[in-house]
Amino acid sequence: MEAWLVALGASLALGAVTLAALRDRRIMARIAAAAGVESAAEVPAAVRSSRERADRLETSLASVRADHDAFVESMTQGVLVVGPDLRITAANGAAYELLDRAPLSLVGRSIIETFIDTNVEATVRSARDAGSATIEYAPTGADGRRLLIRARRSPDGGSWMLLEDIAELRRLQQIRTEFIDNLSHELRTPLTTVSLLAETLAREADAAGDTVPPRMRERIGKIEVETGHLVQMVSELVDLSRIESGGGLGPVELLDIGAIATTSTERLRLFAERQGVGLRVEVAERVPLVQGDAARLGQVLVNLVHNAVKFSPDGGDVTVRVRAGDAEVVTEVADHGIGIAPVAQARIFERFYKVDRARVRGESGGTGLGLAIARHIVEQHGGRIWVESAEGVGSTFSFALPIAGPPTIPARRATSEDPAAS
Ligand code: ADP
Repeated sequence: MEAWLVALGASLALGAVTLAALRDRRIMARIAAAAGVESAAEVPAAVRSSRERADRLETSLASVRADHDAFVESMTQGVLVVGPDLRITAANGAAYELLDRAPLSLVGRSIIETFIDTNVEATVRSARDAGSATIEYAPTGADGRRLLIRARRSPDGGSWMLLEDIAELRRLQQIRTEFIDNLSHELRTPLTTVSLLAETLAREADAAGDTVPPRMRERIGKIEVETGHLVQMVSELVDLSRIESGGGLGPVELLDIGAIATTSTERLRLFAERQGVGLRVEVAERVPLVQGDAARLGQVLVNLVHNAVKFSPDGGDVTVRVRAGDAEVVTEVADHGIGIAPVAQARIFERFYKVDRARVRGESGGTGLGLAIARHIVEQHGGRIWVESAEGVGSTFSFALPIAGPPTIPARRATSEDPAAS
């Protein structure tokens, strides 16, 4: 073979080897960069350490999953995982127990098949759409059992359901209601007698003039005021337990809330004048009628107006407004008094809740039951009650009642002003 041919062959082979080596080096450099190391020599060690890390992660993931499963299994509340198609994909032991089902029989079933209740299915749907929803459910067959079901939307577009047995809670609530009911009924008669005696004593002390020392007269006055508070507290307790046990409403008729607002406010005019607070009622034109118990709704208004006056400063003013809303009649009682902090606003409709006993001027305060009673009465009428308030600015308590339907009150404008305040 010619020498030049041999040389050409050799240099081509060398070139090919050099190119392959260059390509390998570039590949190795890329692998090294991807592995986060400086040179190709460090790659095997880096791969080994990544694999160890992955193994460790897998082990700890398995342990977290085991902990999570053990935790969910140990819960006394039932847990159901529901897919976007409203079928159960997982359930813990408590769920089987609370729903009285054989092991493993829930997975794959639809919500309607499981609960045989369209309301439960609607609750899960509304949790899926709105984020969360709650319902009380009585499983058929499980004697006396009542479940509170809380549903929440899950990240995969399905929902989680938490089931809690509240039969015991309801039983204890029943015992508490009966206890308060019995106690308040027992206390009412002797307390009314003591209150009447205190009143008589105060009158006699007044009539006796200077023969009764001023300190004694003052003490008799205090006894009269405090027994008055006790009598009011006990009668509100009797009221609350009667309303809570569902027996609160008297005759239900078509009502003009504007007229009830006006008469209820009038009942408090003297009290407001004594406190130096102006009262005003504004009733919009053509307010539709509502259906309800006039005495009970009057009680709600008296309570709201009484509070508004009580928590207003001397020279303050309280306005009661009645207007038609969408499918409901809205009544507002607005004051420019001390207001209520946001944290307390969430609790004032609870029984016995009082923001701060030291804030009320002139008297030792109420019972903390008035708003609880008002809420029960409004809810018994199918309505809702709420408060908007800012500390130091004032509060507006509102309640809305469903419209009874046509006919409406004839056109008119009712406004009553407090002459003393204007
Ligand atoms: P009470 O008999 O104490 O007035 P309520 O249930 O009527 O009981 O009210 C509960 C608490 O809510 C009151 O003690 C008071 O702290 C607060 N509250 C109610 N109405 C008003 C208001 N208009 N302005 C400020 N605080 C109020």
